[in-house]
Amino acid sequence: AFSAEVVPQAPEDPLFGLMAAYKKDTDSKKVDLGIGAYRDDSAKPWVLPVVKQADDLLRKDPDLNHEYLPISGLADFTSASQKLILGKNSPAISDKRVVTLQTVSGTGAVHLGAAFLSKFYTPSTPDAKAIYVSSPTWANHNQIITNVHLPLKTYPYFSKQTKGLDFDGMYSTIEQAPSSSIILLHACAHNPTGVDPTQDQWKKLAHLMRQKRHFPFFDCAYQGFASGSLATDAWAINHFVEQGFELMIAQSYAKNFGLYGERAGCFHFVAAPSPSAQDEVARVGSQLAILQRSEISNPPAYGARIASLILNDEGLFAQWEEDLRTMSGRIKEMRKALKEHLVRLETPGSWEHITEQIGMFSFTGLDEKQVARLREESHVYMTKNGRISMAGLNTGNVEYFAKAVDGVVR
Ligand code: PMP
Repeated sequence: AFSAEVVPQAPEDPLFGLMAAYKKDTDSKKVDLGIGAYRDDSAKPWVLPVVKQADDLLRKDPDLNHEYLPISGLADFTSASQKLILGKNSPAISDKRVVTLQTVSGTGAVHLGAAFLSKFYTPSTPDAKAIYVSSPTWANHNQIITNVHLPLKTYPYFSKQTKGLDFDGMYSTIEQAPSSSIILLHACAHNPTGVDPTQDQWKKLAHLMRQKRHFPFFDCAYQGFASGSLATDAWAINHFVEQGFELMIAQSYAKNFGLYGERAGCFHFVAAPSPSAQDEVARVGSQLAILQRSEISNPPAYGARIASLILNDEGLFAQWEEDLRTMSGRIKEMRKALKEHLVRLETPGSWEHITEQIGMFSFTGLDEKQVARLREESHVYMTKNGRISMAGLNTGNVEYFAKAVDGVVR
């Protein structure tokens, strides 16, 4: 029944394919700049000290069992997650205008939001039922959204000339979109470019989107990991909430807790302030619960327990903020070191963007041929679009990488 015409061989996931090729490479100088996972200065995965502490506490808990969590997840975790993303004193929380479900990390949260929109979103303009994503965006957005049959459109984002934000292109496309379109925004540390709007640009976008009655969907995968400050990295979301938007948020704990494989995350729906907001949130929550039940029944427990312990304990929370500064600080140092090496080598071109971009990734501006040469000649592994994971650089390989780049750019 499943002939090649019906089920053609799918291409390998580019990122996980890259990871496999890196593993196979036996050269001792090889450098992995592909996957977006934090590495310490010895290129090793890093268990955050605070996560280790929470894990030890959990394992000693005699009451720990393996029962199901509720459909919407661990209540202490989802309520702490609301406070983390919206702020402790958020009026949206005190007005009870937020409904939160624990999800299978950020991917699951994007999916739940997209599935909900596909099923229920009724735009005031009939042709507005499409979701706009940045070009480029995290590759998985495209397939998650297509899977739930939500029409996908794009807005310009990255300027090849400046290697910064194409704000005018982004703004005018959002301006021309039919009113009440859905706009997917990266809350901070845009993947794959590392380029974010400034606060002033966010304000302009919020103003425009209010006028156009667009619906914002924030994807937040790097809170605290990008700048080292949890509040700074959630600034854009909170500006939109303060402006009275109804919106949705996908929140991942993969990077900021280093809980990649534990799949801890949340989906939040925030209703606009209105007398019927609590009623709306209850109805939306009831439908989200049905979607969740039919797809995963109940979310995975262990990562959420770890995160919950940390989020709900002042001492552990403070330690976590230290760990976030360790990770974001090391990445910023690597940006600085890479730029300095390239400048010192007088590598042709401008390299300012390396330190202006933020978060896990940098769009280097290297083209596909240069990327292929880096892999063949220097055993450097990165995605074809010229994106590097800054976390793959360390004091032992950053100069080697800069020299390799210098070699292919000349
Ligand atoms: N959104 C974006 C923009 C991301 O970069 C990521 C992580 N690669 C995610 C969502 C979700 O990742 P996860 O499912 O591991 O939380």
